[in-house]
Amino acid sequence: MRAEQSMRPETDVHPEAAAEVTLEQLRAWLLRYADRIDESASILTELDAAIGDADHGANMLRGMQRVRQRLLETHSGDTPHEAPADIGTLLRTVAMTLISSVGGAAGPLYGAFFLRAARDPAGSAGSAEAAAPVVAARTLTLPQLAQMFQAGVEGVEQRGKARPDEKTMLDTLAPAAAALSQAANEQRPLAEALQLTLAAAEAGMRHTVELEATKGRASYLGPRSIGHQDPGATSSYYLVESLVWAVAPPPDAAPAA
Ligand code: ADP
Ligand code: MG
Repeated sequence: MRAEQSMRPETDVHPEAAAEVTLEQLRAWLLRYADRIDESASILTELDAAIGDADHGANMLRGMQRVRQRLLETHSGDTPHEAPADIGTLLRTVAMTLISSVGGAAGPLYGAFFLRAARDPAGSAGSAEAAAPVVAARTLTLPQLAQMFQAGVEGVEQRGKARPDEKTMLDTLAPAAAALSQAANEQRPLAEALQLTLAAAEAGMRHTVELEATKGRASYLGPRSIGHQDPGATSSYYLVESLVWAVAPPPDAAPAA
């Protein structure tokens, strides 16, 4: 096995297991996202300088550094916190960390994504968000992953009172969720489903260039927001890209870890 392959998450080892997404892969997703934000914070800041207040890179950096710290410390055992034992607890931990450490709009919005994604769809009806039972599983099938992602998008929509086409992170996340659900309905293999999701996320992110912002700070610019890519849509693209990297990297395109 070549060195770069051994850096990849475990999907390559057991072909049948590739049909399910594991807790470990989702943890690898979030750690990869933290690295991606480290690499790209300056791009996010530049994008936010054009149509906002130039803090999106710093906001995401602060939040994801805290998430990384939390995920690594719980694994080393060097902390009073326990490592998340199931997928719902992992996602809720990320949500709480982002909400408590990021001041800008994006922190609570990404927090809403992970908080809603963490909820057990079978058992949450009527429960308050923070008290709702979480997904107790350690693996997810593709339809369950799609449902989780879609729930996260609905969390962002409710929290931000926004819909797609308003030049926000939803322009990346909503088409990505739709593509993932469609691929699940069509019973596509996991790796193919994730590639379709990534393509939809990228197209959605690029489409924000043409849109006029009607939510968030960029809306203060009105039509002058047109012609710029939305910073939150860009950080959301990295989120989807990191998921693909962690769960189903294309054979010849695994980024160096
Ligand atoms: P702030 O706007 O407080 O400076 P950030 O710069 O961190 O926060 O995040 C800005 C991003 O947040 C925007 O690019 C946009 O994608 C997203 N955003 C802002 N308001 C909303 C909203 N109401 N719904 C969804 N996303 C939003
Ligand atoms: Mg900003």
